[in-house]
Amino acid sequence: MSIEKSTNDVTGNSTSDSAENSVESQPESRFQSQPKSQQSVTAGTLYLVATPIGNLADITQRAISVLDQVDIIAAEDTRHSQRLLSHLGINSRLLAYHEHNEEAVTPRLLDDLESGSSIALISDAGTPLISDPGYRLVSQAHGRGVTVVPVPGVCAAIAALSAAGLATDAFSFEGFPPAKQGARRHFFETLAERRQTMIFYVSCHRIIETLKDMQTVFGGDRRVGFSRELTKTFETIKRMPLAELVNWVEADENQRKGEMVLVVEGSTDEQSNTGQVDQYLAVMLDELPLKQSVKLVVKLTGEHKNDVYKRALEMKKS
Ligand code: SAM
Repeated sequence: MSIEKSTNDVTGNSTSDSAENSVESQPESRFQSQPKSQQSVTAGTLYLVATPIGNLADITQRAISVLDQVDIIAAEDTRHSQRLLSHLGINSRLLAYHEHNEEAVTPRLLDDLESGSSIALISDAGTPLISDPGYRLVSQAHGRGVTVVPVPGVCAAIAALSAAGLATDAFSFEGFPPAKQGARRHFFETLAERRQTMIFYVSCHRIIETLKDMQTVFGGDRRVGFSRELTKTFETIKRMPLAELVNWVEADENQRKGEMVLVVEGSTDEQSNTGQVDQYLAVMLDELPLKQSVKLVVKLTGEHKNDVYKRALEMKKS
């Protein structure tokens, strides 16, 4: 591995003039390329490098160039990342950086950066910091005046959102829902009225219970984009109402394997009523007989008795 420290950074911009001093005489073209000889990392810079989430061909040329040249690659799981680096023929020094040593390793990395080392942070897959370690390091890097440079690429959340066929004008990323049912339902309740599309990462071990809780809180009509094993051999992308999705995933055990992202449609007035029926029923059925629960929920929501009764029976069964 050759480490060049020239005055040109990987964007091809000269670093001898500070950004504040340089004059932007005309708008830059959207796409820029630069000769190989100019693709060098800058000393004392922290690079956040996105890596593939399955398909190795999804790594960018710039990511390869940066990973090849930095002094240190801080990786969530060094054994896992070693396989990627070997595939790319990269021998840069690997250092473990994960949630269990973050606190101890962060100051050491910052000292290295301040002494002029260039460091790339990668996670096991996708974009670092997105449900992955790195927040502490990036936050403190800014605090200490260290230059932070993203090297963008794949992110499962964004890939799933773009393919879900749901509104993309406003969305929120909600990470992993809590593992315990009570906390999970409460978490969904806080999002039930949200109008924007919501993106969740979900462990395959909890997919059924998570979908059922979503159905209870959001209502069965809410549409969901289900993305499984993105960019891999068994990539599956579907969009359907929650009630249908629960049945479909329950009926096919293959749909409960691998990595998955759920993209959930935001609330509409109509759906928020259905979600409310489910929410009230969930609480009442725990405490009261079915008939009494239905009667109270009809009074509270003004929904048709038959619909509420049918839904109560479904919920009792599940
Ligand atoms: N930082 C990563 C990113 O940018 O997407 C996410 C890391 S998070 C620890 C891992 C979760 O991302 C998985 O549990 C799954 O929800 C989602 N994920 C990662 N790779 C995926 C894939 N190929 N297909 C679907 N979901 C994936």
